[in-house]
Amino acid sequence: MICPDPPIPATGVRRKARAIPALIKGRRRQTPAEYSPEGDCENHRKCAKTFIYFSPMGIRMPRIYLGKIPLRWCDTCHTPVLSGTCACGAPARPVAVTPPGDARPAFPDDVDRVNRVFCEHFGAPLIPEGHLSLLNKVPADDRMDEIVLGGAVVGAIRYIPGEQRWEPLPRPNAAAFLRPTKRYVVVDGGAIPSIRDGGASVLAPGLLSIDPAVAEGDEVFILTEAGECIGVGRAKVDAAVATAMERGLVVRTRRNVSSACVPGEATWEDAVAANERILAEYEAASIQFVRDVAEKNPERPTVSYSGGKDSLATLLIVLKALGPVPLLFADTGLEFPETCENVEAVAERYGLEVLRVCDEAAFWSEFERSGPPAVDNRWCCRVCKLHPLGRLIDEHFGECLSFIGQRKYESVRRMQSRRVWRNDRVPQQLSAAPIQQWTAMHVWLYIFREKAPYNRLYERGLDRIGCFMCPSSDLATFALIRESCPELSEMWLAKLAGWQEKQGLPRDWVERGLWRKRGGADEEEDSYN
Ligand code: SF4
Repeated sequence: MICPDPPIPATGVRRKARAIPALIKGRRRQTPAEYSPEGDCENHRKCAKTFIYFSPMGIRMPRIYLGKIPLRWCDTCHTPVLSGTCACGAPARPVAVTPPGDARPAFPDDVDRVNRVFCEHFGAPLIPEGHLSLLNKVPADDRMDEIVLGGAVVGAIRYIPGEQRWEPLPRPNAAAFLRPTKRYVVVDGGAIPSIRDGGASVLAPGLLSIDPAVAEGDEVFILTEAGECIGVGRAKVDAAVATAMERGLVVRTRRNVSSACVPGEATWEDAVAANERILAEYEAASIQFVRDVAEKNPERPTVSYSGGKDSLATLLIVLKALGPVPLLFADTGLEFPETCENVEAVAERYGLEVLRVCDEAAFWSEFERSGPPAVDNRWCCRVCKLHPLGRLIDEHFGECLSFIGQRKYESVRRMQSRRVWRNDRVPQQLSAAPIQQWTAMHVWLYIFREKAPYNRLYERGLDRIGCFMCPSSDLATFALIRESCPELSEMWLAKLAGWQEKQGLPRDWVERGLWRKRGGADEEEDSYN
């Protein structure tokens, strides 16, 4: 539900009214916020051209462009639109998400998590019922997801591994959806223009009241006496200190580029309808690609099916282009039970043969020799996927053509990859990527349109499906897995602890997830969808 009412500053600690001093002799009188030094916004402006930006935490992060970001919004239908015009005929405006901009729908568990995090911090949920919201993963130390609502980025949630918690990072547009009852400051009318229009920080002379719960380092909303949100920022002092201060910085304002935000209810069926034309175009182009590749290559066509959304979209395209084909499922033995269930459900729905290969024993004997796989040493792909798959193809086909759910928006390597290729380790398999140009939103809208049975793990907050202990996962994902699959998680932690002890490694090698990185060369070229 949207909260249109103004916030309740009366519950804050009220400061006594005082005149705003002219601090700089001989110059015009300034409002308090103008005294603050330049903040992140200035750095952002300087560095934007060099493809570096500052995260909401002020951390230098690279901007990674993997392709044009097609995400737009229709303010009439209140849905994401992946082209310039919505199916309703209204123009769709761009949504300024952070690159690479591979946003995805927020599923009910995601919405619950975001709302829980905002409720705990600000006393109110962010995402109202009935509104479509998206999550856009952005570069961060571990995991940070921008939240798109009403066609604007209204904030983000960031995982802090050391504290095992999510932190909310609102933007001013969040105030269109929530009324903070905790962690806000109220500023004097004289300070409003410089804070709202100039991104100036909140200084003690301009502070009227501050919620007593505010602690140093907290994210806060900056409000007027009438309850209008004029900015957001990070408190530099506790509420008790702020109330006693005569001068100095209270809140470092975070300046954001303003963007339109139009709240309104819609369903995912509405979003599919709004994108009907663009989905039909992408579908037709991918079907044509599959037919062209199959026509030029006589090998037996198959689909490499992993139980993830991208291989599901690929399968749907291939079924329309060529009809039924066998599914190749390289089961590492470390798959989630839901993934194996999805493979079965998909095979049953579309009447397909599954050629499954599983060499779990090979994984554990390699583990005994080399320790766990790492993001820069993914021997697991070679041992549990590529080699067994090569044997499977030898046995059934000799050679085959496999359609794979690779997309360029997934990583730099995949963006640079050819659309038809042979992996050196499985030369008997010609691979092709029909959905190379699709974003995650194309994939999801297409899956919704086709009412295809997708892996239920996506509804539990996972955005990529792989092995449950994949070293490419961030610690936020491991925390989610620990909640929903405690037994798998415990088993893996015990194995890691065994290796740590055997090798005399420090305790935090397991606790801080240091096992995930070795410091060697990236082996992503060996990965297999
Ligand atoms: S999903 Fe992760 S753990 Fe599994 S084989 Fe691939 S890289 Fe290894």
